[in-house]
Amino acid sequence: MKEKDYNHIAAIEKAIAEKYGGETVQNPKANWDEEKEKEYLQQMKEFYDKNQKNSATQDKINVNGIKVSKKLLNRESLKTCSVCNSLSRKAKDDVYLMKFECCWKCFERYVDGREERWLKGWRPNN
Ligand SMILES: [Zn+2]
Repeated sequence: MKEKDYNHIAAIEKAIAEKYGGETVQNPKANWDEEKEKEYLQQMKEFYDKNQKNSATQDKINVNGIKVSKKLLNRESLKTCSVCNSLSRKAKDDVYLMKFECCWKCFERYVDGREERWLKGWRPNN
């Protein structure tokens, strides 16, 4: 088995221990029989299935190459373009959002070469 798999099982064991009490994951020799092993494997399977399901149903959005759950994105801290309301998706957008409160597309369209007008508060919506 790969090291990663061992780590994964350790994480599952920890979660099961937290849910069902430490006895479940004690040294098998100490307090173990076929019945318990079956139960343990079943719990492990359920836990794993649940985890799989959760990660599959969770809405993820790709932001700057990083998968972020929609929940996180709903936070106020997230920047959107003040002109077209699009979400910052690229590092390039972040730069223009910080500087001009608009994405790079809107920058090219409305700001580039007319920075002064923009900085004075002109917006295409007004
Ligand atoms: Zn925009």
